[in-house]
Amino acid sequence: MTKHMFLKAATGVAFLLSASTALKADVVPVSDDTRETAAMLRDKALKSDAAYEILESLTTEVGPRLGGSEKEAEAARWAVAKLKALGFDKVYTEPVTVSKWERISESASVVAPYTQPLSITALGKSAATPEGGITAEIVHIPTYEALLEADPADIEGKIVFISNRMERFKTGAGYGPAVQARGKGAAEAARKGAKAIIIRSIGTDSHRLPHTGGVNYEEGTPPIAAAALSNPDADLLERMLDRGKPISIHVDVQTKFHGDVTMHNVIGEITGREKPEEVILMGSHLDSWDLGTGAIDDGAGVAITVAAADMIQDLTKERPRRTLRVVLFASEELGLIGAKQYAEAHKDDVANHVIGAESDFGAGPVWALASKVSTGSVHVVDTMAQLMQPLGVVRHGREAGGGPDVGQMVKIGMPGIDLMQDGTDYFDLHHTADDTLDKVDPEALKQNVAAWVVFAYIAAEWPGDFR
Ligand SMILES: [Zn+2]
Repeated sequence: MTKHMFLKAATGVAFLLSASTALKADVVPVSDDTRETAAMLRDKALKSDAAYEILESLTTEVGPRLGGSEKEAEAARWAVAKLKALGFDKVYTEPVTVSKWERISESASVVAPYTQPLSITALGKSAATPEGGITAEIVHIPTYEALLEADPADIEGKIVFISNRMERFKTGAGYGPAVQARGKGAAEAARKGAKAIIIRSIGTDSHRLPHTGGVNYEEGTPPIAAAALSNPDADLLERMLDRGKPISIHVDVQTKFHGDVTMHNVIGEITGREKPEEVILMGSHLDSWDLGTGAIDDGAGVAITVAAADMIQDLTKERPRRTLRVVLFASEELGLIGAKQYAEAHKDDVANHVIGAESDFGAGPVWALASKVSTGSVHVVDTMAQLMQPLGVVRHGREAGGGPDVGQMVKIGMPGIDLMQDGTDYFDLHHTADDTLDKVDPEALKQNVAAWVVFAYIAAEWPGDFR
């Protein structure tokens, strides 16, 4: 016990505090009242179906909501109506400019020396092949790094096939390295003269549904069609390649770009009773990919954050000291479009963004709490973790990034919290047609809300500064 000591609090409950901060006289404590209310909220959340009901509503009444599409606009209207019906004090939207992309069709097959259909999906923002598709030999490249090293003479006129397989981790740490092939592979392949690119899906499953996801092109290089193969289809191509003969495939990807359209970040607030201008930012994204109904990505995050803020307004005697601001970001999947425009619009108001967190890692339970706060406020996060301990949550030493959307504000100085979810199975379903409501465990959703009410209530009520 060199770093920590147990203090016996007035309530008779033992709390773990950092010895270094506990000994400082100028530390602003978390009051017993605040702890008791947070514990009450946590226990009520474990018995509430509110988040599941919100998620059921979104996935049933709206469903797929691709960034920039009429379905995303419909989701924003759904969200405004839902937040108003729940009685949020303020409900409003902020415009977001998005370049609209449309998926029309995609198909692929091996044509020589064997013939077999392949299960593919166009990657988001993929260019189209010429009408009727293209037929060419594939060149097998194991990873994005290998593509960077490849000789253009081996690539020119061929279809690049990147076969890297994503590794499974609780934290989702396998995603970052593997996803380079999806995000940057097309630009590099195009630069080296490839006719198209197909990648092994960035996913940990073995089902035959391919995973879509965003692709980025480079200025100045004509974009090529980019698609993902399901994992079993990528295995199939590898087995064919092992036989040593050239493999030719036919790929037909039809997509369309429509130019800029206006979408909306949807914002709901529970107004603070003492410092209404100071906000606790609770983020998730409202858009989804178009193949499933966006239940785990990121309907779950929408449901968790909305239910948590709503529960705090319903079950506390008075509004918390600060404002709870729930932001449902637009067009995250197309490149954090709503979040970047939110950060730009609010950059002069970062000081009033007291702290923020995001729920965008599915519906698995929260297992750890990480933070990026001042040393003088670490004890507050320790208190949150203590109160989450009955939920199976531990304190994590890593520095919080704030999540993809909320992280845009953390980058410009807002303190952040990560409520880290168990993502062991997340990438089995992520960005596939199988991202549907039946995959969500209602009990895990309740556990998430229970962790979120502890975080949001304490952050809004504790009078000190996280900076
Ligand atoms: Zn997401």
